[in-house]
Amino acid sequence: MSSTSQTPISVTRTRTPQPRPADASLSFGKVFTDHMFVMNYVEGKGWHDPRVVPYAPLSMDPATSVLHYGQAIFDGLKAFRGRDGQIRLFRAQRHAERLNKSARALCIPEMDPGLVRRSFEAIVGVDHEWVPSTQGTSLYIRPTVIATDVMLGVHPAHSYTYFVICSPVGAYYKEGVKPVRILATDNHVRAVQGGLGEAKTAANYAASLSAQQEAERAGYTQVLWLDGVERKYIDEVGTMNIMMQIGDEVITPPLAGTILDGVTRNSILTLLRDWGLTVSERRISIDEVMQAGRDGSLREMWGTGTAAVVSPVGELGYKGEKISIGNGHTGMLTQKLYDAIVGIQYGAAEDRHGWTSTVPALTEA
Ligand SMILES: *Cc1c(COP(=O)(O)O)cnc(C)c1O
Repeated sequence: MSSTSQTPISVTRTRTPQPRPADASLSFGKVFTDHMFVMNYVEGKGWHDPRVVPYAPLSMDPATSVLHYGQAIFDGLKAFRGRDGQIRLFRAQRHAERLNKSARALCIPEMDPGLVRRSFEAIVGVDHEWVPSTQGTSLYIRPTVIATDVMLGVHPAHSYTYFVICSPVGAYYKEGVKPVRILATDNHVRAVQGGLGEAKTAANYAASLSAQQEAERAGYTQVLWLDGVERKYIDEVGTMNIMMQIGDEVITPPLAGTILDGVTRNSILTLLRDWGLTVSERRISIDEVMQAGRDGSLREMWGTGTAAVVSPVGELGYKGEKISIGNGHTGMLTQKLYDAIVGIQYGAAEDRHGWTSTVPALTEA
């Protein structure tokens, strides 16, 4: 029978624990913890053998299907060490459910979301000493599922590996929240209706690289993606969801099939509504935004995602025109949102919506 949220998770500890880097030296995704979580799927048996094992390379036959056809999904969430010493996961259940949503989009068999959540708790519990403690640092958790059939036929695989690795990461904003420059492109599109835009899958990232490179060559930090049909409506920015405040309205593109249902997006929309602001999930064209930039009603613009929480936009380029937003400063609302989310993540502010869950250390018996 397939493993469920009740299935015990076995733990095999490393005999060669690695030294942990100093908090100040941490960047993003370069150092990994001592252990990883692994679980396998084969047709007929289901998901089985959930376990924490020493971090190690995966050995694969060169004909393994994921290497050829990209049947792969992932997610990304964080564990934070609060000033009270407690380790908290931010919205673990929602991330577990989203991993399953991505699984459905790529014909990958779903996992028990309770077990996925326990996989996060198990790996963080075993590697609890790796959760850094300096303000702004965290442990990034990367759950991934790959197709492992050894054959070159194109069809959904009959076997999969789920693994979770963790990386201690430095403060995204070491010198305070800093605005970025973004370029709206109509040369490339990220996703279309009926495609994979709603899934967190390797393919979307591969598809974004050439546009990202083009934006960087033009002196910008990120791409502002327009819709794949009319190349007119705003979708996302880089690998983040996008929001803006025009006059008194906060606007973000709707979840209509081409964008990711970001956990940060959802958290921020909830806070904005709590605060009584006018929030619209609606289509917004690049022309409307440029016009608002010209007439001064575009007050703030920011991206949202787990890595940065919010990323303020200081400049927007489109068809050779540039508009400056907030004179290169982080807007008041953007900063307030950042502070509110971070306060909840580190246990410093009241968690009214029950978004965090504490993780006990799993010490050796
Ligand atoms: C991960 C991701 C986001 C942000 O989602 P969060 O859950 O807030 O981290 C937004 N857009 C894309 C394309 C993503 O892959």
